Amino acid sequence: MNVFILTDLEGIPGVNSIDQMERGTPQNILAKEQLCKWINKTAEYCRKHGAETVYYLDGHGGGGNVFEEKIDPTLIKCSILDWGELLKAGKIDCQIELGAHARAGTIGGFLDHTISSREWFRYTLGGREFSELAIHAALCGAYNVPIVACIGDETACEQAKEYIPAIVTGAVKKASCRNLCQDHPNAEEIVENAVRQALENYRSIPPYHTSLPTTVELTFYRTDFCEKAMEKAQCEFVRLDARTLQRRVEKIERYADLKI
Ligand SMILES: [Zn+2]
Repeated sequence: MNVFILTDLEGIPGVNSIDQMERGTPQNILAKEQLCKWINKTAEYCRKHGAETVYYLDGHGGGGNVFEEKIDPTLIKCSILDWGELLKAGKIDCQIELGAHARAGTIGGFLDHTISSREWFRYTLGGREFSELAIHAALCGAYNVPIVACIGDETACEQAKEYIPAIVTGAVKKASCRNLCQDHPNAEEIVENAVRQALENYRSIPPYHTSLPTTVELTFYRTDFCEKAMEKAQCEFVRLDARTLQRRVEKIERYADLKI
């Protein structure tokens, strides 16, 4: 069994305040150290419960959050492009979302957002509002790969079940407001239990299937963010209103097929 761990920073135990997102600050370095620790631990639990190869992707803010010298050298680091290639080549059996957070506009979600906290107001696929986990599930599902576990704050875990009812969740903390949260005391036990249950049952957790063709709609917070996205867009799109772009999706083969 080959497991792919897609990481984010917001849902990692020990990351408890928005201050820790500011790159280069001492608090951010602590957050990055926690991320490294939990990548290693999650991978260790994967191995203990049947994984042979473990891949990981540093998914927060385009990467740069991992001190590679602190990562178990037997893990394979991947880029977003590598992730797509591995899926295509049938080299991933299941995926774990480590450090997940809720989608933009979720009450009770620690640092709720979708892709861009600053610019993205709402992302929908096929008319349904999507979280980052759901976007990942749509790509994995196109290759029949299930996302089997979500590790993050309580609300991120509840929300993961909206998309994948059978997903195994490990809620490691709870938000006290959007920008602060508190860890649950027994994170190691919670994460190991989630990984064990997820890997033992990975064949019974269905991949997320998207009926094609479909549409992506992306609403920005501001008109100028929308205009900037129009200039940079690599695909055909329609502008529905001042702040919203829509694209038609004929196929889902790469992560870029789900973006504008
Ligand atoms: Zn993030």
